[in-house]
Amino acid sequence: MSDTSPGGSIKNYDLVIVGGGMVGISLALLLAQQQPDWKLLLLEAQAYEGSGKQNNHPSFDSRSTALSWSSRKIFQAAGLWSQLQPHTSAINNIHVSDRGHLGLTRISAKEAGVEALGYVIENRWIGAVLLEKLAETSIEMMAPERVEKMTPLKSGVRVDLAHSGETIQTSLLVIADGANSQTAQKLGILSHQQPYGQQGIIANIGLQDAHHGVAYERFTDQGPMAMLPLPDFDGSPRCALVWTQLPESAEKLMAASDKDFLEALQQSFGYRMGMVKKVGERVAYPLALTTASEQVRRNIVVLGNAAHSLHPVAGQGFNLSLRDVATLADVLGKAKSVGADFASLEILEDYQQQQLADQQNTLMFSDNLPKLFAQPSSAVALGRNSGLVMMDLLPSLRSGFAKFGMGMANKEAGHGS
Ligand SMILES: Cc1cc2nc3c(=O)[nH]c(=O)nc-3n(C[C@H](O)[C@H](O)[C@H](O)COP(=O)(O)OP(=O)(O)OC[C@H]3O[C@@H](n4cnc5c(N)ncnc54)[C@H](O)[C@@H]3O)c2cc1C
Repeated sequence: MSDTSPGGSIKNYDLVIVGGGMVGISLALLLAQQQPDWKLLLLEAQAYEGSGKQNNHPSFDSRSTALSWSSRKIFQAAGLWSQLQPHTSAINNIHVSDRGHLGLTRISAKEAGVEALGYVIENRWIGAVLLEKLAETSIEMMAPERVEKMTPLKSGVRVDLAHSGETIQTSLLVIADGANSQTAQKLGILSHQQPYGQQGIIANIGLQDAHHGVAYERFTDQGPMAMLPLPDFDGSPRCALVWTQLPESAEKLMAASDKDFLEALQQSFGYRMGMVKKVGERVAYPLALTTASEQVRRNIVVLGNAAHSLHPVAGQGFNLSLRDVATLADVLGKAKSVGADFASLEILEDYQQQQLADQQNTLMFSDNLPKLFAQPSSAVALGRNSGLVMMDLLPSLRSGFAKFGMGMANKEAGHGS
């Protein structure tokens, strides 16, 4: 590739990533480690301001993420886990319950034979660690920057940039600019959105008692809620709340005083985690299942939320995307090592094929879980509660559920073993 623009030569890259959120940066870091001779560029719409945990980028907001065992393994291989781990709280046990019904199941790390079922970390810390590592690499970064236009070439893609007005060329363009990707839409790749008609309220909650690494998933009439253990703050125990609500009740809870919010939370959740004492910043997200109409084309890959954005209750969205990232990096590396065109449709379809079962299973699990528990009919309630009771009685079924949460159910992904 050596096209020249009227004004001079055009910069060439092996790979350009559009979107510097958790997924885009993770791919950039994995590739910088595995393909040190590649020329990489990251384009991000929002400037990164502030440093460390104080960075105020929207991708690294007040949410927390439950990282699965498979994510730990991927970050470990990328040399990032030692920086992330001090900011995580290990999940030793998961309690799944259904408000107003009998069923309750407990999944333990000990029984599953692993050190932890997952690790909870604030997104701000993920951002701080990823951005610090990025600054140590030779990856080029343009922020704020957006794609104005993309033109397919015989080999690669020409990209006109909106802010700088520059034109660049790349062998492979990875689109990771979030759900309802504007960049993918410019290529005629559409987002299919199925709204759940619910909002997810997130907040950090101060607790009176220690949480002992227990994560709670609770299904209520309004929708599912999760309380995930976080590292202590100033010596006080905390957890991360994800609370699904119908829009009108979400609006009321968002407007409520801290005292009223905590009272409503305590009433809905019960006293399994003891008394809830404090609530931090609250943010409400509209919930939808969004999938892209295509994930690969010659010289193009759609990744992360731009490819699939899931209901957060099962805590699978980022974990799945990180497995996509690891598989993509692996497939590209293997293609390069045998001298193949790593951005050819054949190679990119191979990546998609390798991730297909993992994506389908994870999407189905994340989509079905809240729907199953949203059914008010007594037959379904009976079924789901006997399901939970059964799961509590049958260790193999329970360990299967645990393995799924840890990202180990899909052997095709190959990152869990
Ligand atoms: C409440 C909640 C809780 C969650 N909990 C979990 C959990 O516990 N475990 C889990 O695995 N997942 C969880 N998720 C899902 C997880 O947050 C997402 O999967 C993840 O953030 C997706 O990252 P991304 O980089 O693909 O997208 P984003 O985070 O949306 O990043 C996209 C980036 O692209 C940039 N951008 C946008 N448009 C452009 C453009 N035109 N040009 C250039 N850049 C652009 C944006 O500024 C942004 O930085 C949760 C989600 C929610 C909402």
